[in-house]
Amino acid sequence: MQQNNIQYVKGVGPAIAAQLNKLNIFSINDFFFNFPRTYSDRRNLPKIAELVNQETQSFIAKIISVNEETVNNKTKILKVLLTDETGSIQGIWFNQSFLKKYFAPNKMLYVKGKIEWNLFNQKPQLIVNEFEFIDQKNFNSVTGKVLPIYPLVNGLTQFKMRDIAFQLFQNYLQQIEDPLPPSIKEKYELLDLAVALQGLHFPEDQMHFQKARHRLVFDEFFYLQIELMTRRVNHFRFVKGYKFKTEGPLLEHYFQKLPYKLTKAQLKAAEEIKKDLTSGFAMNRLIQGDVGSGKTDVAILSLLFALESNKKGAVMAPTEILAQQLYLKFKHYLDAIGIPIVLLKGQVKGKNREKILATLKEPAPLIIVGTHALIEDDVLISDLGLVIIDEQHRFGVMQRLLLQKKGVNPHCLYMTATPIPRSLTLTSFGDLFKSVIDEMPPNRVPAKTYLVNNSQLKRIYSFFNKELENKSQIYVVYPLIEESEKLDLKNAIAGFEEIKALFPTYKVGLLHGRLKPQEKEEVMNSFKNHELHILVSTTVIEVGIDVPTANIMLIHDAERFGLAQLHQLRGRIGRGGKASYCFLLSTPKNPNAKKRIAAMLKTTDGFKIAEFDLKIRGPGDLLGTKQAGLPEFKLADLVKDEKILIEARTAAKEIVFKDPDFKSDEFLLLKEHIKNQTKFSFKVKLN
Ligand code: ADP
Ligand code: MG
Repeated sequence: MQQNNIQYVKGVGPAIAAQLNKLNIFSINDFFFNFPRTYSDRRNLPKIAELVNQETQSFIAKIISVNEETVNNKTKILKVLLTDETGSIQGIWFNQSFLKKYFAPNKMLYVKGKIEWNLFNQKPQLIVNEFEFIDQKNFNSVTGKVLPIYPLVNGLTQFKMRDIAFQLFQNYLQQIEDPLPPSIKEKYELLDLAVALQGLHFPEDQMHFQKARHRLVFDEFFYLQIELMTRRVNHFRFVKGYKFKTEGPLLEHYFQKLPYKLTKAQLKAAEEIKKDLTSGFAMNRLIQGDVGSGKTDVAILSLLFALESNKKGAVMAPTEILAQQLYLKFKHYLDAIGIPIVLLKGQVKGKNREKILATLKEPAPLIIVGTHALIEDDVLISDLGLVIIDEQHRFGVMQRLLLQKKGVNPHCLYMTATPIPRSLTLTSFGDLFKSVIDEMPPNRVPAKTYLVNNSQLKRIYSFFNKELENKSQIYVVYPLIEESEKLDLKNAIAGFEEIKALFPTYKVGLLHGRLKPQEKEEVMNSFKNHELHILVSTTVIEVGIDVPTANIMLIHDAERFGLAQLHQLRGRIGRGGKASYCFLLSTPKNPNAKKRIAAMLKTTDGFKIAEFDLKIRGPGDLLGTKQAGLPEFKLADLVKDEKILIEARTAAKEIVFKDPDFKSDEFLLLKEHIKNQTKFSFKVKLN
């Protein structure tokens, strides 16, 4: 591909090529896809006579004379008299003496800066902050149009970059092949790739730019969606799975014991899972449901399907407390039916651990609950038919895969409470099938949320007293941010002492990450059994904790929590049918913190919260780009370009479902293009 190397383009050569390489530009194609950072609009530049005082403006002028002055013995001022056919003005450069030798009379300049009034000579002057030489040769190419401003590295100039760009668009544009099938371009009214690239580097006007950008944003989404859709379809073509039984005595017993009726949304998710489990292909499904929507019950049903089929089911949770809690809940419902359950945590060592590991190797049906301890090398599980990952966003991709690998194509269920906006789901989990639990169990009372400050604490505490008399239970939460862990812990401990002193007739507990697992369990259990009335805690209670009788929460320094975290925390209350109250103690100063608090006051709907979060933080941050396998987009914006995303997804779906091996002649270039993709974290396998 020698002729494609950027080095051999006229005017480049080895030195410039080395600089371009630093910008990740190695080939001509790379240059085309190295988009301008912004633009310089030189279409209707004013004449000198039209310049307006106090405004930042740009214009084109000729140099008449150059003078340098030194003020106060230090500040060097370069005064360049500039002119055009309408008048003249003094251009001012501060402390840039080195420029003097370039400024000869009669040279042409493009200049940009602020127009000021010079009190001494009673004339306007220009404080220059940007300029560029123009000569006869390039006059037509750098005036009268919109010009790209490229990202640069030391040793490269805007001038040079543009020069190369002109070159390439003149001589190499016809080399660009458009992999997008013509039918898609037509249907979605997309520009040709070459035209779009030209439009993005040298837009003629706003419309032209928008259309060009639209096409290129479509591409960014489209090739990712092709990849995700291919994974999805190939999964069903090639990954065989056990066919599960979805009826039997265990299930009947379970439904007899269940004290409530499952919600419509829970039943619908269970039906969708049933379909996957009996399809003959391995399930790959994401259950998305807001905090408290009852995902655990759907997990239990899935586990029972596995057991009815004589297989094992494993559930991995991100924290010891959560694993413990799931284990207890499972035991509560399933012990009576005689279903064996084991709990494997990191702290289980020695003989006990060996005993559990031996049980896992036996061929009998079993439910295994655990933390990361489940994915250690020496944990071998026979007949593993189903893998469930709870709060899956807390795990890395590798950890999920490791648990899957304990079996042979086990069915996989991922559960997530972090509501993810639609556009993010479509990009980062686009290969998974999705069930949404969009209904809360009855009895739920959305927490009334208040922003309060320190001066109101007294009133809040007397409110606590009243509520405690009515058998309420209260969470008092302190932030625990990793880098200042010690300090924060001190806050929580001091808070605990204070609350104890303030409520002497009630039992107060303290929960934080430094406690031994055993101690954590004891505290949680006493709170659950109503032996404790107030629980002072760090964020360890954020995930999955379920104490339906707790109905009040006070969150200290609420501005220090993320929005998803605040929502998760608040989700701990309002589960027992009693009116519930969430107090956010804070005087937010930074604008994003203000927005987060405002969102909390506005809604309790997790999906709306997620949309706010996406807007405030941006997608990469929301999920952790790496963890979610989310590629970085050059142009696309998940919030603003959602419509294009959905079109690109539809287009990709149509192609992949119709022709998953891209056999049609129409897809020849597309297939070639996908094969050469190196950008994404995973690759489509093509046969
Ligand atoms: P999450 O989706 O956050 O994991 P859980 O599964 O922990 O939620 O459920 C929250 C609470 O709701 C639990 O106490 C659970 O027993 C209860 N619950 C779940 N489903 C129902 C239902 N259909 N009717 C009443 N309560 C339910
Ligand atoms: Mg849960």
